Amino acid sequence: MRLRKKPWIDDALPEVRDQYIYLDRLDRFKGHWRDQFQGRELCLEIGSGKGAFITGMAVLHPEKAFIGVETQIGVAYYPARKAKDEGLTNLRMLCGDAACLEDWFEPGEVRTLYLNFSDPWPKKRHAKRRLTYRDFLKRYALILKEGGEIRFKTDNKDLFDFSIEEFKAMGWELSHVTYDLHAAPVAGDVETEYEEKFSRKGNPVCRLVARRP
Ligand code: SAH
Repeated sequence: MRLRKKPWIDDALPEVRDQYIYLDRLDRFKGHWRDQFQGRELCLEIGSGKGAFITGMAVLHPEKAFIGVETQIGVAYYPARKAKDEGLTNLRMLCGDAACLEDWFEPGEVRTLYLNFSDPWPKKRHAKRRLTYRDFLKRYALILKEGGEIRFKTDNKDLFDFSIEEFKAMGWELSHVTYDLHAAPVAGDVETEYEEKFSRKGNPVCRLVARRP
C-alpha cells in the first residue's frame, strides 16, 4: 500500500498514541499482553492496512483481543482511531515491522495469527521478504502457543502456492485449504479492504489454516 505523506497525522496521533497505538517501546507489554486485555486470548494481524478486518473482528468477537501490526503509520492510525471512537477495549495497533515480533511477544503468548493479502513480492530475489517465507514462519511458531494457528487469505495464487510449500517444509499442518473462499464463506470471518477490492474485480480469494508444528 503506497501512501502520500499525510500532514495531518502529526496532529491526530496524540489523541490515540499509547492508548490505541504504540509507536515505540513495542516490547512494553512483552509477556503481559493478556493482562492488558483482562485475560482474553490474543489474536494478531500482520499487515493490517487500514484495518477493516481487525476492527470488524474486534466488534464481532468481543471475547478475544486483537493486535494489529503495521509498518506504515499513515494506515495504522485508522484502526486505532476507530477503536477510540467506538470504545473498542479489545483492539490495539503496533506500528512496526513483523520481523521484530519476538522482541514484543513472549513464546506462546499468541493464540491466532492472521495474514491477509500480504505483499506478494513477485520477484524471486525478494522471496525472503514475503511474510510466509520460512524465517517469518519460525518467528510465528515461536510466539504462537501450542495448537495455535495462522489463518491466511490472499488473491495471489503464486504467493498462496509458495506459502503452502513453505508451511509444509517447516512442518505446519494445513487445513481448510481453498482456492475460492467466497464459494463457501467461513462463519465468523470478516472481509478485508483488499479482499473487497480484488474479489469485486473477479479474483478468487485463496485461504488456508496452518497449525503450528
Ligand atoms: N491486510 C490488509 C492490507 C494488505 S496490504 C487487507 O487485506 O486489506 C499489506 C500491508 O502489510 C500493507 O499495509 C503493508 O504496509 C503491511 N506490511 C508489509 N510488510 C510488513 C511487515 N513486515 N510488518 C508489518 N506490516 C507489513
